[in-house]
Amino acid sequence: MIQPDTIIRSARKTLSVSIDCFGRVTVRAPMRCATERIFSFLAEKESWIRKKQAEFAAASVVLPADNLQGYTLSILGKTYTVCLYEGTLITMDRDKNRLYVPTKNARKRLVAWLKENAKRIFMEQTARLAERMRVSYKSVAVSTAKSKWGSCSHDDALRYTFRLLYAPSEVVEYVIIHELAHVKHKNHSPLFWAEVAKYAPDYKTRRKWLKNHAALMEIF
Ligand SMILES: [Zn+2]
Repeated sequence: MIQPDTIIRSARKTLSVSIDCFGRVTVRAPMRCATERIFSFLAEKESWIRKKQAEFAAASVVLPADNLQGYTLSILGKTYTVCLYEGTLITMDRDKNRLYVPTKNARKRLVAWLKENAKRIFMEQTARLAERMRVSYKSVAVSTAKSKWGSCSHDDALRYTFRLLYAPSEVVEYVIIHELAHVKHKNHSPLFWAEVAKYAPDYKTRRKWLKNHAALMEIF
């Protein structure tokens, strides 16, 4: 039997269920809906709920504790272990897959370092892909947004969240292609998706990866 974690009652007419990236079940129900009705609704949806929970569990995103020592995080598909040390600079040991981070203000410094690197990497890749797609854009900025991976403004200013750095390269590439396709199409019309598919034929798989790894948004 599925137990809801949250039941939200409102002036709606139908029942709905959603699963967040940590597998929690939220039911939205009409104000006076009987509890038995909610449970029978969840029973009907059980296989879908279990499937979603399994997908999110497979993403196995570990959130950082207060002490970052030994914390592992993925950067562009490669996993690194944080080693705190009494230094001043963050350094990456690519052979040992280690990230040396100063003990003092470790979290703050690591986020700043991730943002800096995200900006450099996303700028380079945007320039390269824009040339391939024959589009031009106004600027590239990196934000700390937790709600979306990227955006393209009405005047073609592109913005990505630094959290995208936690994704594998081909997923990062998909997000950049997606935003660059918005330079031509300011919507999600079939024409827009055809443009995306030209440069990322398997975009549906890459998109699904982002959906299943929504918990990455919660790191730092
Ligand atoms: Zn879009």
